[in-house]
Amino acid sequence: MENNETKGSGNNPNQPDQPNQSNQKPNGKRRFNLMWIYVILFAVLIGVNFFGRGSVTPQEDIDQGKLIELLKKEEVGKIELVNREDAEIYLNKKGLAIYFPDATTNADGITEYPNYSYKIGSLERFEEMVENAQKDVSNPVYISNVRRNNWMGSIFEWLIPLALLAVFYIVLIRGMGRSMGGGAGSIFNIGKSRAQLYDKNSSNVNVTFKDVAGLEEAKVEIMEVVDFLKNPEKYTKLGGKIPKGVLLVGPPGTGKTLLAKSVAGEANVPFFSLSGSDFVEMFVGVGASRVRDLFNNAKSKAPCIIFIDEIDAIGRARGKSAITGGNDERESTLNQLLTEMDGFGTNSGVIVLAATNRADILDKALLRAGRFDRQIYVELPDIVGRKEIFEVHMRGLKLGNDVDKDFLAKQTPGFSGADIANVCNEAALMAARKGKEEIDKQDFLDAVDRIIGGLEKKNKIISPEEKKVIAFHEAGHATTSWLLQFAHPLVKVTIVPRGNSLGAAWYLPEERQITTKEQMYQEMIATLGGRAAEQVVFGQISTGALSDLEKVTKQAFAMVTYYGLDEEIGNLSYYDSTGQQDYSLTKPFSEKTAETIDQRVSFIVEKAYKDAVAILTDHREGLSELANKLIEEEVIFGEDLERIFGKRPWGNSEDEKLKNAALKAAESQAENQPENKPENA
Ligand code: ADP
Ligand code: ZN
Repeated sequence: MENNETKGSGNNPNQPDQPNQSNQKPNGKRRFNLMWIYVILFAVLIGVNFFGRGSVTPQEDIDQGKLIELLKKEEVGKIELVNREDAEIYLNKKGLAIYFPDATTNADGITEYPNYSYKIGSLERFEEMVENAQKDVSNPVYISNVRRNNWMGSIFEWLIPLALLAVFYIVLIRGMGRSMGGGAGSIFNIGKSRAQLYDKNSSNVNVTFKDVAGLEEAKVEIMEVVDFLKNPEKYTKLGGKIPKGVLLVGPPGTGKTLLAKSVAGEANVPFFSLSGSDFVEMFVGVGASRVRDLFNNAKSKAPCIIFIDEIDAIGRARGKSAITGGNDERESTLNQLLTEMDGFGTNSGVIVLAATNRADILDKALLRAGRFDRQIYVELPDIVGRKEIFEVHMRGLKLGNDVDKDFLAKQTPGFSGADIANVCNEAALMAARKGKEEIDKQDFLDAVDRIIGGLEKKNKIISPEEKKVIAFHEAGHATTSWLLQFAHPLVKVTIVPRGNSLGAAWYLPEERQITTKEQMYQEMIATLGGRAAEQVVFGQISTGALSDLEKVTKQAFAMVTYYGLDEEIGNLSYYDSTGQQDYSLTKPFSEKTAETIDQRVSFIVEKAYKDAVAILTDHREGLSELANKLIEEEVIFGEDLERIFGKRPWGNSEDEKLKNAALKAAESQAENQPENKPENA
């Protein structure tokens, strides 16, 4: 048994605990700090013990009889009554000569320390006893009272609860640090900024504009910042002021962090990166102190860049959600940030870049001159941008000959840069899993499908009836959108279940800046086409249209209340770009208007549904053909639709192309390539 035990415990350290390995370091650090607390506490205790007592030699306790005897024999030099509790007895020369012949004495003929001590029961009795014992003595000793602070005792009295408190606090903080993901969880670091620093020496900042694909306009604008950092004199010579803050606005994954890093890389300056939520802690004042710390660090490394991701975590407009009351801390953090940004000189060489996907909810004070007065928009990439991003991320990959970046760019509408990076990586993993030498087109297509719909669920069982319903539902979407001029033409439909959804359809959204009422309405018809097909074919509807209905309802609501596209409500918009409405409890319109809105939304949706049913009834045959092909092959492409319903009369016409191009050109010189003709694999 014993053997077993020792074996067991001996094995434990060897138990492979790999996942924790990486945590070892912060943990070790924290323990080190704790160790110091213990050491200091211990040292204090020892010190107090040592100095508080003085160099007291332990004395012998004596009993009453011995004391009376000493007193009677006149061997006592002095009696000190300490705190009315203990009597300390000093012998005189006579007594010392008898009991402590070796003791050294002082001028009074007694030792420095008491020779005996005597515990007093009752004070009166003791005094009486001393008096009585010395009745016949010619030179009686009198009791002298001494008040002596008991350092040890009183220190312990407050030190112990304090130590307990400290231990409790430390345990609390450690627990919290752990639950927040460790990191700089020690109490000593709580006010320190959590910015990650990328130096020239660290390899991470070797990002340059080369690594950022697309985003041409953003690059041009941010190039200026690089120039500021590289040769500030050029601007300051003329009295110009270098901007302090630049706000990058755009959806997640579009490369805002990447862009900021590339600025640091291009200008060859250090780069502090952190997220807005890193400032937030449950303790009051921590956020502000972290901001201060961050700026101090940055100033010592100037010229440099501070990058704050998700600045909306602290920069949200102040004083709006007063109900929660919990935003005082966030406010003070924001105030500190504003103060710091005002505080450092314009030309100190620190530039703050911040990223958000909602510039509209930021506090206006953040956007004022001298703070984040520049905004750069970082949008989702268009087809050209997507191709370039594919190029960047395919650099390190071993590609097969059939991989076509143009084709892939077309297959990935709405993908962000991060999604595309993900596709490339996923494709490489898939090829590796299949033991291929190089990554081919199919791997990329599979990766795209996977990113879109989550993992294919091969083992998800669908009954044949269910499959039929799904097929008709999806075919309904495809048919209506093909037959409507302004609905997005279809790329591909599958009924292979993925993740949570049973089927999926991909459309090529035209990249348009404004949408007409007609376009919006037709999109709604196409969205309702799924449910309408179920109605037309089976005479009953199912729950499978939940997300369609949600989308349509929102769209109709937006048409009526935001875009002023409804004749009954008229040219009114209840949209609030300041975001303040989100927090208010009242609606900006009357009850009566609310009723009208409800009626109009319902009217529009019902009308669209009727239109969808009408279209599908007219093309019942084509719908069935399409659905049957779906049941058979589980996937259909734009080509199949073309075969069944004929070419879209307007979709690919030169007219449309020209009109589109003109419209686009008017908006900006951005690229526009009508990509209406879907390709298939
Ligand atoms: P954001 O900060 O906007 O959320 P990131 O900059 O963190 O997005 O982008 C995440 C990843 O996506 C990057 O590391 C990069 O691999 C990829 N990526 C995004 N946009 C681009 C782009 N324009 N060019 C190349 N890669 C990109
Ligand atoms: Zn649907």
